[in-house]
Amino acid sequence: MKIIIVGAVAGGATAATRLRRIKEEALITIYERGNYVSFANCGLPYHIGEVISNRDSLILQTPDSLKSIFNFTVKVNHEVKSINPNNKTVKVKNLDTSEEFEDTYDYLLLSPGSQPIRPDIKGIELPNIFTLRNIPDMDSIISAISRGAKKAVVVGGGFIGLEMAENLHHQGLEVSMVEMLDQVLTSLDPDMASYVHQELLDNDIKLFLGEKVEGFEKNTEGQIEVLLSSGRRLTTDVVILAIGVKPEVVLAQEAGLTIGKSGGILVNEKMQTSNEFIYAVGDAVEVYHLVIGASTRIPLAGIANKQARVAANNIAGLPSTYEGALGTSIVKVFNLVCASTGANIRLLDQCQIPYKTAVIHPYQHAGYYPGASMMHIKLIYSPVEGKVLGAQVVGFDGIDKKIDVLATALINKATVYDLQNYELAYAPPFSSARDPINSLGFIAVNDITGFTPLIDTYSLKNCLNNNYFLLDVRNPEEVLAGKIPNSYNLPLHELRSRLNEIPRDKTIISYCKFGLRGYLAQRILIQNGFNAYNLSGGYDSFQAHFSQPETTIRRFSETITMEKPLTTNTFKVNACGLQCPGPLMKLKEAVSKAQVGEIIEIEASDPGFYKDVQSFATSLNLELLNLEKGKTIKASLKISDSKKEETLSTSYSNQVTIVVFSNDLDKAIAAFIIANGALAMGKNISMFFTFWGLNVLRKEGKVAVKKNIIEKMFGLMMPKGSRKLILSKMHMLGMGTGMIKWLMKSYNVDSLDTLIKSTIDNGGKLIACTMSMNLMGIKREELLEGIEEGGVATYLGDAEKGCINLFI
Ligand code: FAD
Repeated sequence: MKIIIVGAVAGGATAATRLRRIKEEALITIYERGNYVSFANCGLPYHIGEVISNRDSLILQTPDSLKSIFNFTVKVNHEVKSINPNNKTVKVKNLDTSEEFEDTYDYLLLSPGSQPIRPDIKGIELPNIFTLRNIPDMDSIISAISRGAKKAVVVGGGFIGLEMAENLHHQGLEVSMVEMLDQVLTSLDPDMASYVHQELLDNDIKLFLGEKVEGFEKNTEGQIEVLLSSGRRLTTDVVILAIGVKPEVVLAQEAGLTIGKSGGILVNEKMQTSNEFIYAVGDAVEVYHLVIGASTRIPLAGIANKQARVAANNIAGLPSTYEGALGTSIVKVFNLVCASTGANIRLLDQCQIPYKTAVIHPYQHAGYYPGASMMHIKLIYSPVEGKVLGAQVVGFDGIDKKIDVLATALINKATVYDLQNYELAYAPPFSSARDPINSLGFIAVNDITGFTPLIDTYSLKNCLNNNYFLLDVRNPEEVLAGKIPNSYNLPLHELRSRLNEIPRDKTIISYCKFGLRGYLAQRILIQNGFNAYNLSGGYDSFQAHFSQPETTIRRFSETITMEKPLTTNTFKVNACGLQCPGPLMKLKEAVSKAQVGEIIEIEASDPGFYKDVQSFATSLNLELLNLEKGKTIKASLKISDSKKEETLSTSYSNQVTIVVFSNDLDKAIAAFIIANGALAMGKNISMFFTFWGLNVLRKEGKVAVKKNIIEKMFGLMMPKGSRKLILSKMHMLGMGTGMIKWLMKSYNVDSLDTLIKSTIDNGGKLIACTMSMNLMGIKREELLEGIEEGGVATYLGDAEKGCINLFI
């Protein structure tokens, strides 16, 4: 049997080696137009960025190694010019000598791939306008950089464009990305793509969305002017065109093979073309999309590989079928990883396939385990039977694992009911006991069964009318950071007691930051007779969808990098998984231990820490040596000469005074959160506990002290210490109070006990009002250790020193 293969990279080389493993006696000849065989085209951008430093490691095989191991005849620099299917011959041109000859086959396998698109626009022929497909392309780009290129414009925000932007940036070039659409990475829905926009901007990539390149001109300095549709001109040294690929079908077309509607070579499930002796695989062929049930083109290496194996099997007489593809893909964009599988909403809309979506924003592993970082997962499923239709995952860590589970679910035609039951590996460094995949299953099942129906940010625009009531159940402080227009804020913990404020004649859409509290609110509402939906993904998804970054030049990154002295003590502080003010408190603790000249390196996962640490450094006169925003926030701070003493010592304007009058749990928590935040910011704090506020400081359990009958009665009626306090509202026989404690735990907010302890440990002054102690019969022995006693003068003395006085 004589087999000719056209193309010696992903599909061609894979098919050839599989054929050899089945048919030792087959005569296999591979013609390759280029100079290299079996190279890692997916690694090309990373060699440009010197992430893969060794060029040779991209070249997986050579014609000689293929000959010696597999006994192939490999002809590089040989282009197959035409096919004669009737005679089963091909005409080949030796590109080195221009000699042409004919060769015969029993079977022909085409794997010619796809070509980068070079649009026919003004100036396209200018030097330094590159595409990237193979090793010579890569070498040309590297040589342009080495000639001193300082600026690059990447046209196209797909996989290759994004990888190129990152790698050119690694090489120190100032990079602009121009994308015709309103988003990069169209495998993602716009809400999910906005995280990518942010990552690009955070890494100083200038992003021009909705801008078309209309031409190029050379300027007088010899640079290229990129002309955009808005009239803007970008001056650059190099241009990378990454606006897509077109399948190499001319050879097949001229041989009379059928070309499919999507423009790729038409093949059946055996990878056979319209001619039974000619097979085709890879980027050049049409594939059946398993979700939409139609043919399309998906130029990905994994697909080419699988198809090649199927084609080889069939040529060698082993019946084999290729069922179709999902387009599962993943790409790294600086620190962010973006992955998707199946159909996205654009494709489903085009095909008029109904769908629903659920979005969650979990940590990739247990929040309390160091290095926790947030990811965003979107699941798309059919509204009735809950069949999984697609998924998108964006985040920093563990993204590949999540997408691969979801891709496997899709391949196995799983439903959202199945996702609930997947038993996935868990230990704190890897995931959560309730894996996000299970959570997605629960949420989607709750949605389609009507237990807690969801609404997504795309449908929300149809609900901004009088028939709907948008209920924001976040705490008022969170609302300060932004809200959905015309929404009504009623914090979850007050919902039960304020149900009368919610209109019964409207459909309620509840939302919180990420979706969980919105869901809890929705359940309260539904059980009280309301018609309620929860906004999938909460305000975070709303923001991602509607607060798309501007498409003009923006510098988001405020990365500050300065030389670090080498010979100083460095303290490492891990504050990952802690919510504000947890990271600041940890930092404060480290600052108080460190000596002048020493360095503190802190890592936190709370995104707010990026800004907080800058204010912290300013207010404590610390030197911010380095600040990085990636999957976590990393900062290095130096304790500068005499600054520490200055900043940690008492200073009048640094004084904060809080009068704690109430013994309501929520008010006490608020008081101590403010106190800890203030301490962390280097302020001095005095808390004056009077009347009911004294109960916050009481020890738990019975303390043997002498009391008269009235004092005893008072003592019995009042709560003994922080654990016995209840909410000012919505206590609900302990349910509401329990829920707040649970929420604090799940959001890694310290308990009241811990907050009190850290206030004392961090130097906060807690003063028990002696007058109130006498009136209420509370004795010194009943109070926690470290509490001072004092009168109103002590309070007023401290209050006079500062400018912040609070009464809680
Ligand atoms: P190719 O691998 O392109 O091989 C086709 C070969 O055929 C070429 O070498 C060509 O010279 C030769 N040829 C064409 N016509 C003739 C002819 N008439 N005669 C002789 N020879 C001919 N995919 C992923 O899944 N993940 C990634 O991360 C990824 N990254 C990529 C990064 C880059 C920079 C590029 C360019 C592609 C990337 N891809 C990635 C896509 C992936 O490489 C392709 O999907 C895959 O290589 C397709 O395999 P193929 O065999 O169809 O074509």
